[in-house]
Amino acid sequence: MAGNDFLVIAHRGASGYLPEHTLEAKAYAHALGADYIEQDVVATRDNELIVLHDIHLDRVTDVAERFTGRQRENGRYYVRDFDLAEIRSLNVHERRQSDGITAVFPNRFPTTVGKFRVSTLREEIRFIQGMNKSTGRDVGIYTEIKSPAFHKGDGVDISLLTLQLLDDLGYHSKKDPIFVECFDATEMRRIRHELGCQLKLAQLIDDNDSLESDTDYPRLKTRDGLVDIARSVDAIGPNIGHIVNPASVDGRLVSTGLVSMAHELGLLVHPWTFRADQLAPGFKSLLEMIRWFADEIKIDGVFTDFPDIALEAVRTG
Ligand code: CA
Repeated sequence: MAGNDFLVIAHRGASGYLPEHTLEAKAYAHALGADYIEQDVVATRDNELIVLHDIHLDRVTDVAERFTGRQRENGRYYVRDFDLAEIRSLNVHERRQSDGITAVFPNRFPTTVGKFRVSTLREEIRFIQGMNKSTGRDVGIYTEIKSPAFHKGDGVDISLLTLQLLDDLGYHSKKDPIFVECFDATEMRRIRHELGCQLKLAQLIDDNDSLESDTDYPRLKTRDGLVDIARSVDAIGPNIGHIVNPASVDGRLVSTGLVSMAHELGLLVHPWTFRADQLAPGFKSLLEMIRWFADEIKIDGVFTDFPDIALEAVRTG
C-alpha cells in the first residue's frame, strides 16, 4: 500500500462503533489512530454552526418527540427551524430509517442507548485539538460545508462562517492538517477564488439524482470537468461507485479510470464510504477491500466508519 501517505479519514467519527458525529465517536476515532476526523457542518436558525450530517434532525435525534408540530410540510424537522439552545437539548442516537424506529445499520451501537449530544463546530474542533495536545499527536480535521445553496436561500453564508471559524481556530494554509470538502462545485470555486481560502480543498462527487447540489457530476468526472475543478481544489471525494464499475471481471471490480485521470491532474482521491457492514461485491472483509482499492486502484485514502480496520490494512499491507 501507499504507506505513510495513505489517509485514514474517520467518516463522521468512528461511526461504525458509536453514534455518528457525537464527541464520543470523535474521541474513539482519535484513540484508534485516525489521521483525519470528519465533521459535517449545518447552520441553526440563530446561525450557529453545528456538526450534523443532514440539514434535518429527525434521523439521529429525538426531535419528533421533543418538538412535535415543528416539522415542515414534508414531515422533516429542519436544523434551520431550531435555535442552538433547542438543538442542545436533544438526545442523539444511532441513525434510524424514515420509520423512526429501525436502525440503518442493525449490527452497530443500539439506537435506544446512551445520552449523546449535538456539538457546535467550534466545540468539536477544540475537542480534537485538546486530544492532540494531550496525546502529542496531530490528527487533522476534514470539514464538510453542507448544502451551501440551501443555506444561502435561507439567508446565511455558511461557507463564509465556516472559513472564519477555521481561521480563528488556527487553520490558515495548505500546510495545516485540514481539508475543506463540499459537494457544490460552484461553491468550491467561490471558496478558493472569491473567499480566498488557502486550505486544502476536496471536491465531493455524487450522482445528479442525489440532490446534494446542482453540480453536473457526470461532467465533473470527465477530463474537462476535472481540469476545470483542479484549478480550485487539491482532492476529489468520489463515491466508490465512481471509481470502479459494478461489472466485475474474474470476480473483481474494474477501474473506471477516474482515479488515474485525477492523479494525472495532481488531484488526490479520497473515496467514500468504506464500511465493514456494506462491503463491495467480491470482498470478504473490509480489510481486504481497502487493501485492494489501495493497491489496485491507487486511491490516496479512505473515508471509513471503521478507522481501526483501515489502519490495520495500512500497517499490514
Ligand atoms: Ca460528509
